Amino acid sequence: MELWFTEKQTENFGITAKVSRTLHTERTPYQRIDVLETVEYGRMLVLDGMVMCTDRDEFIYHEMIAHVPLFTHPDPKQVLVIGGGDGGTIREVVKHPRVERAVLAEIDERVIAVSKEYFPALSRGFADPRVEIEVGDGIAHVKANKDTYDVILVDSTEPIGPAEGLFAREFYEGIYEALRPGGVFVAQTESPLFNAALISRVWRDIASIYPVTRLYLAPVPTYPTGMWSFTLGSKGPDPLQAEGQDETAIETRYYTPEVHGASFALPRFVEELLAR
Ligand code: SAM
Repeated sequence: MELWFTEKQTENFGITAKVSRTLHTERTPYQRIDVLETVEYGRMLVLDGMVMCTDRDEFIYHEMIAHVPLFTHPDPKQVLVIGGGDGGTIREVVKHPRVERAVLAEIDERVIAVSKEYFPALSRGFADPRVEIEVGDGIAHVKANKDTYDVILVDSTEPIGPAEGLFAREFYEGIYEALRPGGVFVAQTESPLFNAALISRVWRDIASIYPVTRLYLAPVPTYPTGMWSFTLGSKGPDPLQAEGQDETAIETRYYTPEVHGASFALPRFVEELLAR
């Protein structure tokens, strides 16, 4: 019998992958976790029925959420990742030799444990001695750590359940306070085709707090619509004028200095979302 998994992205649309077996299923206090072995995309991490990452295309998302801000900041020493329990973002953060401390604030310790068991290529960054794992709410962590971080990355689930507050204006203000002078933050902000209103609202909120606000895009084939956005707020450095670090010094598969610049070139309909 053939097994197929469908992420129902709207009432009327979904993406489907052929599955050779289910490796793990559990319910945690926060969400349902599934690990599937797919035929085309390798292992797939699914939270509450939504694809978080697959072996085959995860590098695009994780490299772009991490390296764009880390190469924008001239000297990122203290880095915070909120969410990101699969470890992919931390794995990219610790590629940067300037990073002295990388903190992961993830609400669900089971995501971390499941990733360690089933996604060794994602979770290997956890073994780096500069990494500190704090299991708890990222919102509380930000409130409790003022003037601490050079770079903050919000690698969250969709804006429902415990992640809802990670898309709120008060949270972006908290991040501003948690950043040191010249600090930079990035949040994954969903798809411009499916989440237009969210992107417009988040852009307005961030632009009203941070002197520099930019949005960039990357293709992630297994995310809804395949077109993904990241919104960056900066207290000083502009990602379009990044200078001072050698962007070829680390090993990547997607990110290059040229991709960094090109990812800020926005299609007309996305520009219009930011002008609303
Ligand atoms: N790359 C993914 C995507 O965009 O689909 C997100 C991956 S990651 C696994 C998201 C993580 O955020 C989940 O493990 C979830 O438990 C965590 N999370 C949700 N709300 C949170 C909160 N308030 N504080 C900390 N972590 C949170």
